[in-house]
Parts: sequence; C-alpha cells; structure tokens
Amino acid sequence: MPGDPRYDILFESVRIGPVVAKNRFFQVPHCNGMGYRDPSALATMRAVKAQGGWGVVCSEQAEIHPSAEICPFIELRVWSEQDVPMLARIADSIHAYDALAGLQLCHNGMNAPNLYSREIPIGPADLPVFSVFNDPVQARAMDKADIRDLRKWHRDAALRARRAGYDIVYVYAGKLFGGPMFFLSRRFNTRTDEYGGTLENRARLLKELIEDVKDAVGDTMGVACRISMDEMIGEEGLHAAEAREVIAHLAELPDLWDLTLSSWDNDSQTSRFAEEAYQEPFVLGVKQLTSKPVVGVGRFTSPDTMVRMIRQGVLDCIGAARPSIADPFLPEKIRQGRIEDIRECIGCNICVSGDHTASIVRCTQNPAMGEEWRRGWHPEYIRPKQSEARVLVVGAGPAGLEAAMMLGRRGYAVALAERGTVLGGRLAQERKLPGLAAWGRVADYRAGQLATMANVEIFYDSELSADDILGFGFAHVVLATGARWRRDTVARNMLSPAPLGDAEIFTPDDLMAGMRPAARDVLLYDDDHYYMGGVLAELLAGEGYRVTLVTPAAEASSWTRNTMEQHRIQARLIERGVAIRPHRVLREAGGGAAVLACTYTGRTEHAGCAALVLVSARLPAHGLARALLDKSEQWRDAGILSATAIGDALAPGTIAAAVWSGRRYAEELDTAPDPDALPFRREVAELLPFNISAVLARQPV
Ligand code: ADP
Ligand code: SF4
Repeated sequence: MPGDPRYDILFESVRIGPVVAKNRFFQVPHCNGMGYRDPSALATMRAVKAQGGWGVVCSEQAEIHPSAEICPFIELRVWSEQDVPMLARIADSIHAYDALAGLQLCHNGMNAPNLYSREIPIGPADLPVFSVFNDPVQARAMDKADIRDLRKWHRDAALRARRAGYDIVYVYAGKLFGGPMFFLSRRFNTRTDEYGGTLENRARLLKELIEDVKDAVGDTMGVACRISMDEMIGEEGLHAAEAREVIAHLAELPDLWDLTLSSWDNDSQTSRFAEEAYQEPFVLGVKQLTSKPVVGVGRFTSPDTMVRMIRQGVLDCIGAARPSIADPFLPEKIRQGRIEDIRECIGCNICVSGDHTASIVRCTQNPAMGEEWRRGWHPEYIRPKQSEARVLVVGAGPAGLEAAMMLGRRGYAVALAERGTVLGGRLAQERKLPGLAAWGRVADYRAGQLATMANVEIFYDSELSADDILGFGFAHVVLATGARWRRDTVARNMLSPAPLGDAEIFTPDDLMAGMRPAARDVLLYDDDHYYMGGVLAELLAGEGYRVTLVTPAAEASSWTRNTMEQHRIQARLIERGVAIRPHRVLREAGGGAAVLACTYTGRTEHAGCAALVLVSARLPAHGLARALLDKSEQWRDAGILSATAIGDALAPGTIAAAVWSGRRYAEELDTAPDPDALPFRREVAELLPFNISAVLARQPV
C-alpha cells in the first residue's frame, strides 16, 4: 500500500557530517537493561528497529572508562579492545537493515558511583555523586591532568567505535548522565579556573571533547552532541536560555544536535503527566541557532505531529526511544500507509523499569521487546499455525486480546468470548482513571487488529461456564479471565486479614464500577505500591473527598520510582490535599476508626476511618479454570486437548505481564517446549585463560 504523500517529508535523507541517514526517523540512545551482559539480545533488538525502517539506530550509553560506570545499571562499555567485538556485533546487526549505527559515548562524571570499578569518580567539584541511590561516594574535582585524561579517553573510545563499525559517535552532555553536563550546570560547577564561571568557560570541556572526537574520527563518522535544554529547576541549574547560549556558541561544531531534558525523569515523562510533543517549547528556536540537523523527542507516535515538527522548523529528525520500543516498525508502517497498524506507546514507562531493575527491557505494548533473540519473538511476525486446531479464548483483557490476535496472525481459527460488552478487560475501567486514558491504546490497537481478521470471531455478552466450553468442541481453551482486588488487607505486609469490623470497605474494583463512600472522609490503605493506590487517591480527592493515604512504604506509589513518576505522583497528591501517612500498617478498623501501627516500632495510633479503600493484593479469577479441570474426564469426548490459564488469571501482575503472557501462549501453541530446557537463550561471559596457582602465587601465605 503506498504511503500518504503528506508524510513523504519524513522520508527525506539527512546529512550528518560525512554520513547520510536515509530518512528522518532517529532512534535516539536508550537504555534497556541488557548492555554488556546480553550483547546478542541487544544486537537483535536494535536490528529489529533497523528492519522497521529507522534511519538511525543508536546504542544506549557506552561507558568509555572505568572511572565512570553506573553499576548496578547495565549499559555498554568501551573500556578497551575487549569490548570492540561486542560493539561490532551490534553495529553489524543494524547495518544489515540499512540503518546508520550510532554509539553514545559516555563518561558519566559525577553521576557514576563506580561501585564495580572502585575508581574515584571525577567531576567539576568535590561533591557527593549525583546517583540514584545516594551512594556514600564523593567525586573529586578534576585537575588539568584529569581533563587531559578525559579528553584522551573520549578520543580512544571514538577510535574504538570506528573500529567497531559505527557511523555516528556521541559526545554526551545531557540528562546529568553525560559528564560534561556537570560542567555546564552552574550548581555543580563552582570552579574558578577556565573551566568554571562564565558560560563559555563552563562549555569549554564540551567544546574540547567535540573537537577531539571530530579530529579523531570526524572524517568518516558523524559526531553528535547530546545536550539537555533544561534541568527544570529554574536558574539554579542549566535552563533553556543558557542551553541556547551553549548551542549558539558551539553551533557548527558537532554534526548533529540531539536535544533532551534533564534529568531522565523529565526527558521521559509518562502520559499521566505529559502529552505527546511535550518538549516542543524547550526545543523551539534551536534550529535557528545552527545549520546542523536537530533531533528532539516527545513520545511522538502521530505522523501528523511528526510532519508538523519538520514543517514548522522545530526539528530535522524525529527522535524516539519509547515509540520505537512500542513499535519498532513505526517508520515502515507510515511509509506503507498503515497508520492504523501503529502500536502507539502508552507512556507507562514499564520499559524504564527494565533498566532500573537491571533486568531486561520490557514493553506493555510490544511483548516481543527484549525477547527478539532470547525467545525468537518478533514484534510483527510469528510462525504460521502448526495444526488445524480451533482455539477458544475466554476473556478479552490484555492477555486474552494479545493471545487471540497473535493466534489469529498464526492462522488459527479463534473464538474470543467476553462476558462484558466492550474489549479491554481491566483496561476498560482503568483507562477512565485520572491520567490513564492513553493506556487504553493497549486494548484499542488489539481491537483494531482483530477487527480485520476473518479467522477470529468475537462474542460479547458471553459469560462462559465449564459446561458451555465442554459443549463447544474447541481443541484448545485459553482462560484469560483476569483477577479481582481483595476485600481484605492481605498483601505484602500482612499475610492474614486484619479485623475490619463494621468498616465500610471499597476495593479498586468497586470504585472503578462507580461505587462511592457515603462519608466524605476516606482512608485509603495502599499495600500494593504501584499506581492504583495513588490514582484512586487522586480520583477521590478530585471528587471532593478528604483522603488520607496510609502505606507501609516510605512514600505513595513507591514502585513507580521504577517508572520515574513517584515524585510527580506524590507532588500531585499533596497538591490535591491528600494526606500521606507513610510507614504505617493497618492493624484494625471499625466503629469509624482505624488502628495504624508504625512499621518500625509497632507503636499504634488511631485515625478516623469513615470509609476504607483497600488497595491490597489481587486474587486470580480461576473459578472457570478450576471448574473445567474438575471435569477433565469429559475433555476427550468434548475434543479438548488443553486448557490453559494466562495473564492475571494465572497470577495477577502488570498489564505488560498480561500481554506478555498472551503472546507466550500464542508463540508456544503446538510446540512442545522441553520442560528441562531453559525457556530462553542467554549468553555466558567468555572465560579468559586462567591459572589458579599463578594468580595465587603472588599472595602471601
Ligand atoms: P488480563 O489482564 O489477564 O487480560 P483482565 O481482568 O483485564 O485480565 O480481563 C479479563 C476479562 O475476562 C474481563 O474482560 C472479564 O469480563 C472476562 N471474563 C472473566 N470471566 C469470564 C467468563 N467466564 N466468560 C467470559 N469472559 C470472562
Ligand atoms: Fe511506551 Fe510503555 Fe512500551 Fe515504554 S513500556 S515503550 S512507555 S508502551
């Protein structure tokens, strides 16, 4: 199908120094939790982006020297020649699909606690490191020899990047990850030498690094500078006016400007707090300061917005991290005029949690993300069916929708039965909660795809029983019946229910179904710690309830630190008048009061509790699965070969986990996975030659 000519402008080539990107789609550097530990998985993930049409595909930060590494987070390393083969595999994989490969060289400066290397971090001043965990580590102020060393390390790393086959290298001064940014930001840079004071002085190190890297590799490689436009803390930090001055000062020096906000949580804001193109006000006008191409991000998923960015002269290239994670084939779909097939990022930042937990990137919308090499999953393709078996999927939540869609793509005849009148399961309700509207895209994308599949039939208003299923004659039954929230306090801190007497109790399901407390004072007890407690507090406060959020954690929605939202959630709740009482366990309720116990001392106190909202654990809705199992002796006559619970019905979890579970079912149907084999591939570090007695001989006995 030909693409819409309106979007042709997105497919114009862009010169980046000595190299040319085939189009304006630019996958900016993004972390993924795989890095040096999972290089082939990483190479495959990046290659899929190239296959999906991105003109440039970049790495995550590639740490150039052991004096700046951000353990426990797993990134890339360019420490020595040992790293080159791994880096080359990634570049080669990107080149296999005709994209330019970019390596984001990074010296984290005083962002790096160096817990692995145990080197002393270096930065503009003697200050504690600016790391996530407030590590008890201080950086030391760099002297002239350190600056010489840093310049040489950048140069050496750029040469290694060239040997590994990259087309573009970065000098990274953004997000308080790239060390030179600590020199740019006056709150960190208190130097009185030629690297401190005036903006020109504070930009001197960045200028020298770009010059050095250009000198080393600029004849064959594009040299990009990634810089933050604002720390969003006012004049105390680097702010928009100053960042513009830096860009004007260095305007023609790099071959490309890549613009971000700082820190990462400002750069990658969730849809709860920011709309598509939210960075536009910060990057507006930068193009007028330089003739070099300008890349910017803003969770772009709409081709119309992308075109506007180019036509209005805001950007030259459409930068994307998350939209490229949710849909690695976004450019190709635009090129082919398949706009309705775009799997739009929902802005949930579950992808970020993969990096924050040093596990592996995952995506709510794209369950294949991170699994391309490990399990052989592809975001667009799946192997054809292996039999003529018909499949019944019960429940149209994220798990059931994904299973039905991917089974449909495999070519199976599928029936999807849903008790309700809409598709989406938990999402049908959750998308109506404050700030979660974009999450509905998980259901909408799948509903749209299913609507085009002649081999998938959808049945609404169809609450199925075990007897119904036995009467249908499907070979495989998928039970994606979801979960419900518990009506007691059993969750993380309490494994048996607290006595709740006559307290008027509401679960999240009740509130989402429209039930509301009669009293205006509500005690919301959150022992779940992800988004639900905070969202419901926001909902009720917005409706005029006086809400007290009690939690055993130190803060509201504490797990959302992993999605970089916690501070925004807490601020919003405070602004909406929600009282937050941390470090408290709900021991008892009734008679209009609750007994709360301090999580440290056990000391108790009383709180008013006219109505109680419990955000505790969830119970899988496995009644149907159990009833079917109870009748397993009838399966053979009914033609049933298997019945499998997936998603929340198997074990309640995130929406991402439910989608992933649906995908797994669809991938594995009619395969016979070896139960003794590992469920995925992994790489084990290559062992160096080793002689134990030679190593230990140097030790005194
Ligand atoms: P998941 O996150 O695992 O997809 P959800 O709770 O979002 O789970 O969705 C489960 C869906 O299953 C809901 O839409 C619910 O209405 C539906 N459902 C539950 N039990 C039945 C049943 N017996 N027959 C048909 N649909 C059901
Ligand atoms: Fe977007 Fe969420 Fe996927 Fe990240 S996990 S790419 S935010 S949909």
